[in-house]
Amino acid sequence: MGQPFSHDRMHVIDLLLRGGLVVDGTGARPRVADVGVDRGRVVLQEPGSTESALVELDVRDRVVSPGFVDIHTHSDLTLLSAPSARSKVAQGVTTEVVGNCGLGLAPLPPGSPVDPIRAAVGYLDLDPGVQVSWHRLADYLAAVATARPSVNVAAFVAHLPLHGGVVGLGDQPAGAAELDVMCGLLDEALGDGGVGLSTGLAYAPLCFADERELLALASVVARRGALFAWHLRDYGDRLIPSVEQALRVAATTGCRTQISHLVSVGRRNWGAVVEALDLVDRARADGLDVGVDMYPYTAGSAPLSQLLPEWAQDGGIEEVQRRLRQPAVRDRIRSAWVDRPLGWDEIVLNWLPESAPTMVGRTIASVAESLGSTGDDVALDLLRDYGGAALMVAYGRSEDDLRTVLRHPAAVVASDGLALDPDGVTGTGLPHPRSYGCFPRFLSRYAGDDLADAIRRCTSAPADRVGMADRGRLAVGLPADITVLDLARLDDLATYERPHAYPSGVDLVMVAGEVVVQAGEHTGARPGTALRRPREGAQS
Ligand SMILES: [Zn+2]
Repeated sequence: MGQPFSHDRMHVIDLLLRGGLVVDGTGARPRVADVGVDRGRVVLQEPGSTESALVELDVRDRVVSPGFVDIHTHSDLTLLSAPSARSKVAQGVTTEVVGNCGLGLAPLPPGSPVDPIRAAVGYLDLDPGVQVSWHRLADYLAAVATARPSVNVAAFVAHLPLHGGVVGLGDQPAGAAELDVMCGLLDEALGDGGVGLSTGLAYAPLCFADERELLALASVVARRGALFAWHLRDYGDRLIPSVEQALRVAATTGCRTQISHLVSVGRRNWGAVVEALDLVDRARADGLDVGVDMYPYTAGSAPLSQLLPEWAQDGGIEEVQRRLRQPAVRDRIRSAWVDRPLGWDEIVLNWLPESAPTMVGRTIASVAESLGSTGDDVALDLLRDYGGAALMVAYGRSEDDLRTVLRHPAAVVASDGLALDPDGVTGTGLPHPRSYGCFPRFLSRYAGDDLADAIRRCTSAPADRVGMADRGRLAVGLPADITVLDLARLDDLATYERPHAYPSGVDLVMVAGEVVVQAGEHTGARPGTALRRPREGAQS
């Protein structure tokens, strides 16, 4: 032990953080110590060190924490467009896990066309200039490494390209041969280093995937000991049966399971997270490995198309746009919408193509009023005209529910946001502020008085969910992914009205021993790498 990391005592190490309050990510009691970094790794962690370093920083009155590990992001494509990942490193994130909610472009079945799948994941596709040059997950991860991001990047295997590429975009179940192909591609992608499988059963065509398919894929994930992350079928009126489905698949296959962004949507459903967490507790008591994650906000963000009934999403987004020109179809959707859990005054348009900028930042109810129209018709027209490119921020959630979820022993913090650059193509529109403020917001407003536990939920706990035991903790020998916080100044400044704003109080961020953010400014360094889940039985 220690050989690669021990160093000659005469050697001057790269960097020493002097006198900070070290919160090591494991939940252990904070203690004042110096932290030394050399050749990308932590080489010492002790009080009053006599070591000399090329660079010494006085971090007294600061918290020295592992960099945050964000296991639920949609930065799949923006990391290629904006590899400096400014919105994420500014909040202290050093590892970004993409491919969530089933959305992503890896793996694509060999030879399958990219464009229809890309259209189906419009939510994360903000820069048409990004070239999709891969089919395999290994090649996607190689493209990320070539882009030299400022953060480390790991990836879930996304269910949508698998299902969409093999079965198609329509309302049809997978046949036996198609299931075999999907399972083979999934297994290959997990072998390529994917941290698990993610699904998004609210998104077409995944809403058409049957439980047989979910069980087959979960069995592959279980064999690999990887994680199955679920954007549930429904977070509104049918939250409980949706949680039950994930837990049923976990119980049948033994698959490690993550319930993504657990929330109950719509005032009439407030409180349902308590029952959902009871179900999770019971599954855990039965020995299943089930976790949940959440971002510290009472609004979500998604494509407007997510409001459509499943039948209306059949066949891919162009087909949906064509369908919405038929008066009979519109009538049928209006009837389905009579009993929606969210009102049009709770839904804000936050991103639209350039032709409709005046609507951005307004509720659908307010747009309808000024057009002398109805909310239903405004929404249907936007979906007809812009398809998957119309995005919303949806309110109608409970602060009490949010606190209940974030306090649960199995809960970790994850942004559900994207790496964005306010000065680039990805800096347009009004993205959900979580892309800029998630972790500072959690630590400054939701952490309570147990700082060590709050930091654990941002670091080692999420890293462990995705099988990365060497991330999210500060210890001698581990990679030096470090975030230094000034708790007195820590504040998320990004708001729904002005989301492209960096937080305050994140003083220093280091990835692999290189300083990426100093005094709140990006240094231009891009030391991130693609992280691959270690193969079973291999030394990590
Ligand atoms: Zn999701």
